[in-house]
Amino acid sequence: DTIGANLDRAVATWPDREALVDVPSGRRWTYARFGAAVDELASALLASGVAKGDRVGIWAVNCPEWVLVQYATARIGAIMVNINPAYRTHEVEYVLNQAGISLLFASLGHKTSDYRAMVEEVRGSCAGLREVVYLGDPSWDALLGRGTPGARLEDDGLSCDDPINIQYTSGTTGFPKGATLSHHNILNNGYFVGESIAYTEQDRICIPVPFYHCFGMVMGNLAATSHGACMVIPAPSFDPKATLDAVQQERCTSLYGVPTMFIAELNLPGFASYDLSSLRTGIMAGSPCPVEVMKRVVNEMNMAEVSICYGMTETSPVSTQTRRDDDLEHRTGTVGRVLPHIEVKIVDPATGVTQPRGRAGELCTRGYSVMLGYWNEPEKTAEAVDAGRWMHTGDLAVMREDGYVEIVGRIKDMIIRGGENIYPREIEEFLYAHPKIQDVQVVGVPHDHYGEEVLACVIPHDPADPLTLDELHTFCQGRLAHYKIPSRLQLLDSFPMTVSGKVRKVELRERFAGGRR
Ligand code: ATP
Ligand code: MG
Repeated sequence: DTIGANLDRAVATWPDREALVDVPSGRRWTYARFGAAVDELASALLASGVAKGDRVGIWAVNCPEWVLVQYATARIGAIMVNINPAYRTHEVEYVLNQAGISLLFASLGHKTSDYRAMVEEVRGSCAGLREVVYLGDPSWDALLGRGTPGARLEDDGLSCDDPINIQYTSGTTGFPKGATLSHHNILNNGYFVGESIAYTEQDRICIPVPFYHCFGMVMGNLAATSHGACMVIPAPSFDPKATLDAVQQERCTSLYGVPTMFIAELNLPGFASYDLSSLRTGIMAGSPCPVEVMKRVVNEMNMAEVSICYGMTETSPVSTQTRRDDDLEHRTGTVGRVLPHIEVKIVDPATGVTQPRGRAGELCTRGYSVMLGYWNEPEKTAEAVDAGRWMHTGDLAVMREDGYVEIVGRIKDMIIRGGENIYPREIEEFLYAHPKIQDVQVVGVPHDHYGEEVLACVIPHDPADPLTLDELHTFCQGRLAHYKIPSRLQLLDSFPMTVSGKVRKVELRERFAGGRR
């Protein structure tokens, strides 16, 4: 199926079920109304000269128009380019030109970001940019006015394998790369992720993660529409209170987040007074999920079936996922089993030889989910996807005897101290149990003698009573091998984050590289 054909089926099957709810504005769409709104916008895009293969940018925080643009561009085979809402003029100008965007949808503004002012500033240096449409502005109505009211579109001349989306990676390890994806890539992935969770038209999914990232637009939106579930938008950008309010008010059955978002919700003053009894499931993904956090999510948020997903933008994104009935150990110690129709192998990164089960190596994956390539960057594509169509993820993993996959960490994050390989994740998991630690990141920083030493960056629970290096050592002594015990401690009140909610370890490494030797 194409995304348009799949949506037609949802509209025909569940016309009166709710498809989309925007909590901040109170607007709601049933599947029948949502399908009609998508076709109306698609016909307006056609009337504005947007053709199959043209790049349409979207630089916006979460709102219903974002979702309409996602489905309307797919409906006509245009390539939607997701632009990170945290970008500033220099970066947006780069993407507009690199992707050759002819029509741009943008938010007017949000918090301290004046998107309109930034767009107007760079517009002159983007030769291919013909038109800019601001969401919630007369330019949006003007665009819609060009469409045919009541238009019904067919997916004539479109193929499942056409590129329809360029999604940028999070930029956790460097400059983001634009993964080019087809209907087939992301629709199938959304469908199978939803199937593992057993979504039906009864489900209501609270999506506080950004749509610009695959977590929101694929695991959220496409998983919802391919199973008739409802997408609930709690706020334009992540806000723990708005998220819990939306779950309670809209009786959501599923809640998404990266671990740091769940941590913020669990620590929100007044958390205990929320009625979260409607929740049964959700997804935690994007970075390692600490055991302590998972226990609280299961026990205190009523999410007994919460699922862990592992994947990357380049693979549409999900490759492995836990199942509803997995026990807590599998749901924290592993990222689940491989999804249907996807292959995974663990190889020695140096030789490429497949490792036996139980031994760590680089995770490689193959199947419908592997991207078409990085947009306009054939050399980078060739580095990541080999001649056998295997995507090399850069993640170290172990496949257990029982087929469950453990993520050990990114190859780039591994610390080598005096010849010993140290995986930050293991130390972070251990330190989370310390009562004074709210959040912790472990990185390697240069050391004259050992090459690298271990630095623990800690956000204390109570800044008035912070952790000391001595206390840290006492906690670790006798329980962690000596070379893994952090030799440096840095107290912080926040970590540098990507918009998708991941900690930029690179930045921590750079910031504290020049410390004590
Ligand atoms: P960039 O590629 O630009 O440096 P990124 O890799 O963070 O950024 P994404 O595609 O958003 O960009 O994230 C994919 C990566 O996130 C994976 O390669 C993996 O390292 C990490 N990841 C995703 N899910 C999990 C998980 N459940 N557990 C541990 N790590 C995860
Ligand atoms: Mg990556």
